[in-house]
Amino acid sequence: MKTDILVVGAGFAGAVIAERFASHGKSVLVIDKRSHIGGNAFDELDSAGVLVHRYGPHIFHTNAPHVEEYLSQFTEWRRYEHRVLSSVEGNLYPVPINLQTINQLYSLSLDEEGVAAFFENVREKRTPIRNSEDIVLNNVGRDLCDKFFRNYTRKQWGLDLSELSPAVAGRIPVRTNSDDRYFTDNFQSMPAEGYTRMFERMLDHPNIRIELNTDFRNVRNKVDATQTFYSGPLDAYFDFCFGKLPYRSLSFRHEHFAQKEQYQPVGTVNYPNDYEYTRITEFKHLTGQSHSGTSIVREFPETTGDPYYPVPTSENQALYQSYKKLADAESGTFFIGRLAEYRYYNMDQVVAAALLLSSKLLNNPR
Ligand code: FAD
Repeated sequence: MKTDILVVGAGFAGAVIAERFASHGKSVLVIDKRSHIGGNAFDELDSAGVLVHRYGPHIFHTNAPHVEEYLSQFTEWRRYEHRVLSSVEGNLYPVPINLQTINQLYSLSLDEEGVAAFFENVREKRTPIRNSEDIVLNNVGRDLCDKFFRNYTRKQWGLDLSELSPAVAGRIPVRTNSDDRYFTDNFQSMPAEGYTRMFERMLDHPNIRIELNTDFRNVRNKVDATQTFYSGPLDAYFDFCFGKLPYRSLSFRHEHFAQKEQYQPVGTVNYPNDYEYTRITEFKHLTGQSHSGTSIVREFPETTGDPYYPVPTSENQALYQSYKKLADAESGTFFIGRLAEYRYYNMDQVVAAALLLSSKLLNNPR
């Protein structure tokens, strides 16, 4: 099988590369081992006709105008600002922690300055910051750490906050103002007809051929490509020669409620301290769909299963670096996306990385 470009994986990384090279006249073969395009952003109508995200809630947000412009060629958008509540001792509080959270939780009526002083009073100063526990205690002190962060982290990662790199908790902001939006990016919107429809448009090009249910392992010696773009797991590409790169997995339990218009007040409710699941997302908040029933998903963290989150510890980074050395030496093959780069990437970051790589290679072919 001859092609200019072989793209392994039809998620954001693979779809952007495929579209860019096809638009520059190259023949592109896209393979994916799943039965659909879209990678983890894949959405579909469930049996009741509600648009759901099979692999958990995906909310698009970006500060990169070129990413927004690029994707806007393939979709209209519906403005959506995600809001999350956290269930603590039977009450729902806004997260990220902000002025409203503090006032509601401790029955106070502080203004911004008062909340800043509150944090200053309760924080436990930590230097140096060596792990995620140090970050949280340093920012908000022990009570908020134990109510909102510690148990959620243990469920999500199977590790204590103190065992995780500072980057994990560092991603979660703490605000002194009353902004209760989960993200603060300039552009926050959902593809109006869903992600899958957007991917269909990206890949709808006469130079692109798509083969689903096709694992790279089974075709790697059969495809004759000038360049390969691989967005699958890096350790699998090298036959796990240094051992497995650890991932945290999730199982998703979807449920539909007929004749119930709304299940919960916002898109996502976190359950840091109760139940085995970490959070529940109700899709109609995200998509704006009208329907007499509603559909939700519960997320249960797992040790085994599909790879979702690279586990961010220093040992795992060292293992990744061993694989990366092999990847850098592989001529004609480029490793891109969250699995091949073993890092947590938001969707817009993957799009930006794929646009950058394709523009470098297309303007400067080797
Ligand atoms: P993927 O989407 O995973 O695509 C990789 C593709 O490669 C897959 O389709 C896979 O089947 C295929 N593949 C793997 N191995 C092989 C093989 N051997 N042969 C053939 N095909 C193969 N980001 C946000 O910006 N906002 C969010 O709200 C958000 N929510 C998330 C929620 C969850 C639960 C998770 C896990 C992630 C979330 N993300 C979110 C991150 C988002 O999923 C990623 O940024 C995005 O999916 C990365 O795209 P990708 O192309 O790198 O990987």
